[in-house]
Amino acid sequence: MIEKTVWGKHICEVCRSVVDFYYLEDQGDLEIGPYYVKLCPNCGEENSVTPVERCNCGDWKRVGKDVCETCEKRLKGDIGRFFRQYDKHERSYMQDLLCDKLIEELV
Ligand SMILES: [Zn+2]
Ligand SMILES: [Zn+2]
Repeated sequence: MIEKTVWGKHICEVCRSVVDFYYLEDQGDLEIGPYYVKLCPNCGEENSVTPVERCNCGDWKRVGKDVCETCEKRLKGDIGRFFRQYDKHERSYMQDLLCDKLIEELV
């Protein structure tokens, strides 16, 4: 039984759609008591929705993450290209440096 509609931007990990709300359904019974599951309003999948917010690039990112998946790929590519300029020993030094320093301290 659908109990209520919860508003807010969410992404469904199954159908990949960004939705404005999801349904909260009580699947419990008298024995176990109330048991709520979130339902995607698009594909009906259970507990597949995660809250999202705008990334700086304009795409959607999971709440709590710094960047979206597109930016993640771009940044990983940038990091790879950056480190490939250096040899193994230089990279090893930089690895140590990054272990005990924050990037924010180095910029
Ligand atoms: Zn869905
Ligand atoms: Zn982004």
